[in-house]
Amino acid sequence: MDKIITRFAPSPTGYIHIGNVRSAIFPYLAAKQSSGKFILRIEDTDRSRFVDGATDLIMETLRWLGLEWDEGPEIGGPNAPYFQSERKEIYQDWAKKLLKSGRAYIDDTSSETIDEYRKTDNAKKIPFLYRNHRPASADLSPEESLKLWKEGTPIRFKSDPKPRSWKDEVMGDLSAGPEVQDDIILIKKDGLPTYNFAHIVDDTLMNINMVARGVEYLSSTPNYLALYEALDVKKPLFVSLPHILAPQGNKKLSKRDGAKSVTEYRADGILPEAMLNYLACLGWNDGTEQEIYTKDELIERFSVSRIQNSGARFDETKLLWMNGQWIRKLVDEEGIDKFFPRTLDFWPDSAKSYDDDYKKRVLAIIYDRLKTLSDLREMTDYFFTDPKINVDLLTSNRFLKKLSEAELESLLETTISSLETISEDSWNEETLKNTLNSLLEATNKKPAELFSLIRISVSFAPFSPALDLTLSVLGRTTTLSRLRAVKSALLLDGE
Ligand code: GLU
Repeated sequence: MDKIITRFAPSPTGYIHIGNVRSAIFPYLAAKQSSGKFILRIEDTDRSRFVDGATDLIMETLRWLGLEWDEGPEIGGPNAPYFQSERKEIYQDWAKKLLKSGRAYIDDTSSETIDEYRKTDNAKKIPFLYRNHRPASADLSPEESLKLWKEGTPIRFKSDPKPRSWKDEVMGDLSAGPEVQDDIILIKKDGLPTYNFAHIVDDTLMNINMVARGVEYLSSTPNYLALYEALDVKKPLFVSLPHILAPQGNKKLSKRDGAKSVTEYRADGILPEAMLNYLACLGWNDGTEQEIYTKDELIERFSVSRIQNSGARFDETKLLWMNGQWIRKLVDEEGIDKFFPRTLDFWPDSAKSYDDDYKKRVLAIIYDRLKTLSDLREMTDYFFTDPKINVDLLTSNRFLKKLSEAELESLLETTISSLETISEDSWNEETLKNTLNSLLEATNKKPAELFSLIRISVSFAPFSPALDLTLSVLGRTTTLSRLRAVKSALLLDGE
């Protein structure tokens, strides 16, 4: 396969949504698979939309996901600089080439006049096309245009509208008529290029042979084709990525649909492996039932031809499920010690005074229930602090509500006496399991009753791991003191 030289070309406008990132993943995979190149280029020529710090956020996000770039900011490369705002002269030179060949013109028509044209055309019910209003300067000779041009005067493309057809690797064979081709602006009043022009110049200079971007650029492609032709440069493969759809309806996913930024998902305890896996499989599959892919597997299996051509629906539940799978996979493969550092930001405040070894023991018995790392906050609090006793929660439990408070209290008494026989040194899973089983026989209760009573009494949490594991981690002193406290509370309640 030919080496794919491709790029991710974000505009630093702030929030990085799921869709932005997916536009980085597909080209990354294609480049890596072919031992090609993945270039990061920052498209910051629209100064009105520029957000300070956004580029750092983009780079941090790519690095977090493991999408290292081969050329670009902070790394450099033969095509530096990689910020379009620093490449102004390059675009101006290329625009001058078009002035020289008669395929562009200088245009200082005011925006008020352009608005007038638009209004008149609208009133006449004809589509507004700038080429129907070319200024006199469009007829200047190339020499005069070049001589007269100075920064502050926009340069426009002199379009050559005709039927055009092209192939899109995702959308198939496409064609468009002359009515969608116009005299687009190449260089703006501020001397900087438009996206429409800059990306073609850069893609050419950077030898990009595959352009993967959102499907919203499809309607402008006929204008781009005209530019490739006028500049006499090779066009890349076009890969149009369908929208990511909101969970409901047929609209594009937006912030309003509850889609968080990548940074927010990260802060919520989504693992980069899971995010990469989820987004790569959003609108792409390899034709098998496999759902969990490592980055290397994705690189191996990816193919542009299997990107689906319709929108892919965003499903947060699936993302959370996948994240849970990844937590299990990593812990099972790497072990608790290696995984533990990833959890550091996610423990409840109550865990602050506890050492890492204790937290690791908690993690080891709870990790297979986590969907996100931030679940640790709610799911483990009782390992670090005594829970608030809630007698109602105990007495209304579906297994316990048949028993009177006096029965519960006496059951707890028996439990306490029996657990007290275990010494500090032999307080471990195995002894606990045996003791709890003998207790079941001695009390003649169902596991659901006896174990729910103990489980709730030590945790007052909706969920806890297997009882022998939970008690073993909590330790003898804590277990017994919590059981005694609940027993006293029941006694008080009954008086
Ligand atoms: N700067 C464009 C954007 O952020 C990139 C489009 C492209 O990849 O060419 O949407």
